[in-house]
Amino acid sequence: MKKITIAIDGFSSTGKSTLAKQLAAALGYVYVDTGAMYRAVAYFAMQHNLVSETHLDKLGLIAELPNINLRFQFNSTLGFAEIYLNNENIETQIRTIEVSRMVSKVAEVSEVRAKLVEQQQAMGQDKGIVMDGRDIGTVVFPEAELKLFMNASSKTRAQRRFDELIAKGQHVTFEEVIHNVEERDYIDTHRDDSPLVKAADAIEIDNSAMSKTEQFELVLKLVQEKF
Ligand code: C5P
Repeated sequence: MKKITIAIDGFSSTGKSTLAKQLAAALGYVYVDTGAMYRAVAYFAMQHNLVSETHLDKLGLIAELPNINLRFQFNSTLGFAEIYLNNENIETQIRTIEVSRMVSKVAEVSEVRAKLVEQQQAMGQDKGIVMDGRDIGTVVFPEAELKLFMNASSKTRAQRRFDELIAKGQHVTFEEVIHNVEERDYIDTHRDDSPLVKAADAIEIDNSAMSKTEQFELVLKLVQEKF
């Protein structure tokens, strides 16, 4: 059966990764979470004092880029690939609110984007891939056969992210989470390089009032139409 590329973009916490994982499992495709790659670079920058609430050492970060080695390794127990930074599994460390606060600043740096986009394109060269992020249908795979653009109200999205963080035992308030979701959306849609926009040929899905199963069934139909 012919393999296609599925690009999923959209605002923060719109359930992109949940949908991407479901699709990859159903189709036997590779799933790549590009947000994890930007989070990993942000985590590295935090560890090396290159970024804080008030400051970004852009030149310092660019100079360190050759020392940032990212790879994914499939974890069969979890059913998805975890991210490794310089051979250390940092899947848990990158999901904190602290990393969420820094990541969009780091993702504005063109040199960071160029490095990650090159790696993402290499991962998708044989198709059979579901990739989610902010610029997948516009920059990484403009030729993707299926492009989805996900949205939901900011309150719904913040509630989902808040529940996720609380379930992981993190100490956050709902106000902190909604502030972070809105701030990241603002930076992601306003940056000069590869801002978050819906590709002209992307199908928009607002899942504010949709269950995960309803959404999956809808998208599976869209995929089947491509074969
Ligand atoms: O998808 P996730 O919310 O984990 O992404 C974290 C951040 O990484 C986003 O808010 C955005 O700033 C950045 N990102 C990006 N381009 C991508 C994926 C993520 O700029 N393709």
